[in-house]
Amino acid sequence: MKTSDPRSALWFSTATPAPETPSLQGDRRADACIIGGGFTGLSAALHLAEAGVDTVLLEAAHPGFGASGRNHGQVVPGYSKHSPDEIVAKFGKERGEAMNQWVQDSAALVFDLIRRHGIDCDAIQKGWLMPAHNAARLAVARQKHDQWAARGAPVEFLDRARIAELTGSPHYIGAWMHKGGGNIQPLSYTRGLARAAQKAGAAIHAASPALAVERAGGAWRVTAPGGTVTAEKVVLATNAYVDRLWPALAKSFVPVRLFQSATTALSDNIARSILPQGHSISDSRRVLWAFRKDRHGRVVAGAAPVFTYDIRSRIAAMVSGHIKTVFPQIGEVRLEHIWDGRVAVTTDRLPHLHDVAEGLHAGLGYSGRGIAMATGMGKVLAARVLGTPLAELPVPASALRPLPLHALSIPLARLTIGWQRWQDRG
Ligand SMILES: Cc1cc2nc3c(=O)[nH]c(=O)nc-3n(C[C@H](O)[C@H](O)[C@H](O)COP(=O)(O)OP(=O)(O)OC[C@H]3O[C@@H](n4cnc5c(N)ncnc54)[C@H](O)[C@@H]3O)c2cc1C
Repeated sequence: MKTSDPRSALWFSTATPAPETPSLQGDRRADACIIGGGFTGLSAALHLAEAGVDTVLLEAAHPGFGASGRNHGQVVPGYSKHSPDEIVAKFGKERGEAMNQWVQDSAALVFDLIRRHGIDCDAIQKGWLMPAHNAARLAVARQKHDQWAARGAPVEFLDRARIAELTGSPHYIGAWMHKGGGNIQPLSYTRGLARAAQKAGAAIHAASPALAVERAGGAWRVTAPGGTVTAEKVVLATNAYVDRLWPALAKSFVPVRLFQSATTALSDNIARSILPQGHSISDSRRVLWAFRKDRHGRVVAGAAPVFTYDIRSRIAAMVSGHIKTVFPQIGEVRLEHIWDGRVAVTTDRLPHLHDVAEGLHAGLGYSGRGIAMATGMGKVLAARVLGTPLAELPVPASALRPLPLHALSIPLARLTIGWQRWQDRG
């Protein structure tokens, strides 16, 4: 099975059952049509349906087919790159602080939705850890900690002994923790969101790719193989899987393939010694090393290879090396699952909100940190569909701009990863 087949993901074999989502048959009208059944689209559908809006969601494959069902599962109350001070420097005090608050609230929103809708997805909210393996990266972690602490965020700085206790690893010299973060089984969360949206009244159609989005009088007509949806408002929630549907959107980010792998279930005593309290790690390397355990005591680890030929053996060698370096007690590493998914990386590494046209909205580009931000973006898109002015939304909107020389962006991204990995050594 190819690593890009969603069934190769660990989560596919351990998720709660998928809800019934029959394909679209026939022509229908709705107030809002959402395209894409990941966190962004499902959160938008849920929030719209809860507000009494007649909502139809079209998903090309099945809810969670994209990155939402294949990711690492870390709920991160922060950006992929920026510190909160940098956000204020970019957007000004008022808008910047609104966005800083939003990014933290988005992680809280994930856990609130899980609690409120009784979503069974192995959710653990004990805090999200960013440990450092050398003094230079510890200074970066310290800076992020201090800036979030100055805003009253629930953060803690951990010394070598404390991070060793929480990770079961001798590898790290310190860390910062945001206590609002945690981890989930991402495909179960996606399916739970779909079920909650259906319960609130949204219609969700799987196996219903939107083939065209066109003006139809004052509304939009979305065409799928089995029928059409005509709606005044349409949301493009396709993120890195947009492909040919809206070329300008597809060219506004760099699509990056990220890989994940999972070991076989470890023996009880070894499993207990690794991340003993259920935390997960995204370390402070520029090309980060990420680790967590699943419910059955497997270690799940992420990787971003520069080249993708002979990918299974390359990932196996890379990830086994990382796991043995951080958790030497594991001994031999046996990998059971290797899979990949696509993320949309923006050039400013910030999420993008666009009014693509009158009544046509898009939210995307979480640059690999989208469990919290995509869930939060879905809520923002719902507010926009309901008529909230752009200036009152916590995420600043921008014009949709295709990247110049987009075709070169993937080789350039690979070069960047290679360069950053070289900087991370030691
Ligand atoms: C390997 C990996 C690890 C990651 N780890 C983490 C992590 O630990 N923490 C974190 O916060 N983030 C992580 N991310 C990022 C996170 O998963 C994404 O940012 C998030 O899932 C994006 O959600 P989304 O709904 O916007 O897009 P997606 O989940 O990609 O969903 C888009 C959906 O649109 C559908 N679609 C596309 N075109 C059409 C069409 N024409 N008609 C109908 N449907 C269409 C697709 O089938 C797809 O289901 C990771 C991502 C990957 C790939």
